[in-house]
Amino acid sequence: MGTFTTLVTKQKGFFRTGTTRDITYRLDALQKLRIAIKSNEQVLIDALKEDLNKSEFDAYTSEIGLVLEEIRFAIKHLRLWVKPKRVKTPITHIGARSFILSEPYGTALIISPWNYPFQLAIVPLIGAISAGNCSVIKPSELTPKTSKVLAKLISDLFPEEYISVVEGDAETSQALLNEQFDYIFFTGSVSVGKIIMEAAAKNLIPVTLELGGKSPCIVHKDANIKLAAKRIAWGKFTNAGQTCIAPDYLYLHKSIKNQFLQQFKETTIDLYGKQPLTNENFTRIVSARHFGRLTSFLDNGEIFIGGGYNQEKLTIEPTVLTNITWEDPIMQDEIFGPILPVLEFEELPDVLEGIHRHPKPLSLYIFTENNKVQEKVLSDVSFGGGCVNDTVYHFASPYLPFGGVGSSGIGAYHGKGNFDSFSHQKSILKQTTLFDIPYRYPNVKNGLQKIKFFMK
Ligand code: NAD
Repeated sequence: MGTFTTLVTKQKGFFRTGTTRDITYRLDALQKLRIAIKSNEQVLIDALKEDLNKSEFDAYTSEIGLVLEEIRFAIKHLRLWVKPKRVKTPITHIGARSFILSEPYGTALIISPWNYPFQLAIVPLIGAISAGNCSVIKPSELTPKTSKVLAKLISDLFPEEYISVVEGDAETSQALLNEQFDYIFFTGSVSVGKIIMEAAAKNLIPVTLELGGKSPCIVHKDANIKLAAKRIAWGKFTNAGQTCIAPDYLYLHKSIKNQFLQQFKETTIDLYGKQPLTNENFTRIVSARHFGRLTSFLDNGEIFIGGGYNQEKLTIEPTVLTNITWEDPIMQDEIFGPILPVLEFEELPDVLEGIHRHPKPLSLYIFTENNKVQEKVLSDVSFGGGCVNDTVYHFASPYLPFGGVGSSGIGAYHGKGNFDSFSHQKSILKQTTLFDIPYRYPNVKNGLQKIKFFMK
């Protein structure tokens, strides 16, 4: 028996009672969660400040507010989402009706990372609740204050046989992976994603994997430079670049390089101050290990902006590196920090080729006023999702399912996509008993001939 067998067995037992199939029960759980988050707003803001030095603005917009919106959306649409979906029935099945039922998987395991430690644990939970599952959440050990608040908030609200938070590190995560869950929803790195999928494969457990990678940001010669600079600087430096969908690197058209970089410098100062290291509201790097990894990139290419850091506070200035090539160490893996390397290009096909030679990105951003260029990039490059003339914003729309492709992930969530992720689509054919088509059986004279008329 594993460490968590008792908990998972309890949840399976609770699921079998059918309680979570009741839509009112699900709506009530969502409502309770919403109220509790609102009343714990300050506690959460304080925890996020302690864990990552997140500002109140960032904590609210990218964690608390985002979650509240997701809950509101689910509450508003849930009765519609759970309705059986009527579909057509082929002529060969005459007399029957067909529909698809969204049924909960059962007990879901949600494993989340540290960079948005509240939001990335709770948004999947909203999907799990909406779809009628029981859940175990394993938040990140690198943001212990937020994990603790999360654990208390959930245990105050729900019995553990319905929803439970298990705090712990990779070992705890491994112990949970030995249990027979019905669904696994993982957000984190590509390397751990592979471990999760391997563990899930042993028991044939379906997964959603929300992973990462290097998300390109292309600025073409005809881009609106001022807006592009502002939207890229914000998307990159918010949360000190520790955002899975942050622009990882820039592909900048040679003809506008100097103009863009100058504008980018001014914008960055506007947003984060002349001395960002003294800015009380600039998010810190999560750990000394990540800090060391990031500062080792500072000798790649040339520093155009920033480059300063504070070892004690684990902060790094918003930094831009020019004269970078694909061979530099910073271009080998996802950066996940406030350092933006710049590649230059003259011809768009070179950009597309450069991206193609690497794993499929989680996001892509293209800044151009030219529709043809937009279409070319969108149709030619495979990536999870992204924006034209913006960064990161697509993440916050409940109408856009969010997820990766290839090594940036499997599956998607947010809005109805969140409900769908945690639901099995059960297809049902409801047959008439008023008559029976004789030709389907092998003992009817000339049956095959008739069948060939319909099945050709
Ligand atoms: P991580 O993969 O190190 O950890 C994620 C979770 O997995 C944590 O809860 C951790 O305890 C657990 N874990 C770690 N090692 C494990 C192991 N060997 N076996 C089982 N579980 C293990 O990721 P992280 O450093 O917390 O987060 C950063 C990564 O997450 C980045 O790569 C980023 O791109 C990605 N990310 C993706 C999204 C998305 O929505 N696609 C969002 C945020 C972050």
